[in-house]
Amino acid sequence: MIAPKQSLGQNFLRDPNTIRRIADAVQAAPGPDAPVVEIGPGTGALTAALLERYPRLVALEVDDRAVAHLRGALPGLDVRHQDVLQTDWAALASERGGRLFVVGNLPYYITSPILFGLVDQRASIAEATVMMQREVAERLVAVPRTKAYGILSVVFQRYCDVQLLFKVPPTVFFPRPTVDSAVVRLTFRADSPPLSPEEDRYRVLVRAAFNQRRKMLRKALAAFGTVPEPWATKRAEELTGDDFEALSRALPA
Ligand code: SAM
Repeated sequence: MIAPKQSLGQNFLRDPNTIRRIADAVQAAPGPDAPVVEIGPGTGALTAALLERYPRLVALEVDDRAVAHLRGALPGLDVRHQDVLQTDWAALASERGGRLFVVGNLPYYITSPILFGLVDQRASIAEATVMMQREVAERLVAVPRTKAYGILSVVFQRYCDVQLLFKVPPTVFFPRPTVDSAVVRLTFRADSPPLSPEEDRYRVLVRAAFNQRRKMLRKALAAFGTVPEPWATKRAEELTGDDFEALSRALPA
């Protein structure tokens, strides 16, 4: 076993119970043959449990030493030395024969780009069961008029069913992080709107509204034209995803 602190950064799972809970939370409908992909296997704590359940598991890992270690320790594993942010999910889904089930204890410093990468290729992803910093998980599931409600809540709730499955304390990791964690399941809806110029505009609008979340929308969104009622005097955190969609259609193109 590689000692993680020597080379691989933080948040390595050490607790068999948490490992089992995460592996059990994957809802890969087709059973053991399901196309399951692990992000960031590291030294393989979660990987071994996943491989028992899903023998065709593919693991994506950027760290040279971790890849070498995994090839020795888990010879049956299809480990690929690559950056998850460069992954072509559509090509991988087509190679594995169906929409993918993604799982992993994410590298926390790139949680948002990983999640946005998945949502942008949601035609190729069925589900993501992933561990992240608890604050990020809470933003994903937040409802309007709360402090945690923001861009992540609006965008992800539009494309996925989001469930915060369970919280995880720092004590189950080595080295012990300073933040709490949580496991989230994102079930990507096959019928969500496809990527298009309208979708891009929607995201730009949501981002602009929350970038000035204390201002009324007539000010925060002034660059988009005259904001009509009933939205002009509201603030971003009062709007649901459907409200943003209606507002996006109501604003001049
Ligand atoms: N799954 C292991 C566990 O729970 O013990 C390790 C999780 S650790 C939080 C995150 C892992 O992601 C590390 O192994 C790290 O090398 C890997 N990683 C970091 N950035 C990555 C990237 N861009 N692409 C793929 N893997 C990455």
